[in-house]
Amino acid sequence: MFDTFEILMFALWTCFAVYATWYITSAKHYAPITHDEARTLWKIHKQIIRCNGRKWREIRHGNKVVGFQCECGYRHIQKRPIVVSAPVANTQVQDSQVSIFDKLHTSYEST
Ligand SMILES: [Zn+2]
Repeated sequence: MFDTFEILMFALWTCFAVYATWYITSAKHYAPITHDEARTLWKIHKQIIRCNGRKWREIRHGNKVVGFQCECGYRHIQKRPIVVSAPVANTQVQDSQVSIFDKLHTSYEST
């Protein structure tokens, strides 16, 4: 049981460390996005300003997509990750730790 728990914690911390590293490094530079994300952002742009543009192109920084340019001339460069807020992720990790500790404690007492 504790082996599983430790593996789980290790996995959580690995995920969190990777996420934190990615968040910190990517916040300083352009945030690479996928083709689909660029297209989604373009659709949002069209809805927000009721743009009639029918074409768009990717804006690339090196070999990564970092934004889009609409037919109307609007340019969007993604400088922050689309999925943000490391503090929220941190809180979730802490919450799940607390609940697992509670479960362990409860089951230990009842045996
Ligand atoms: Zn546009």
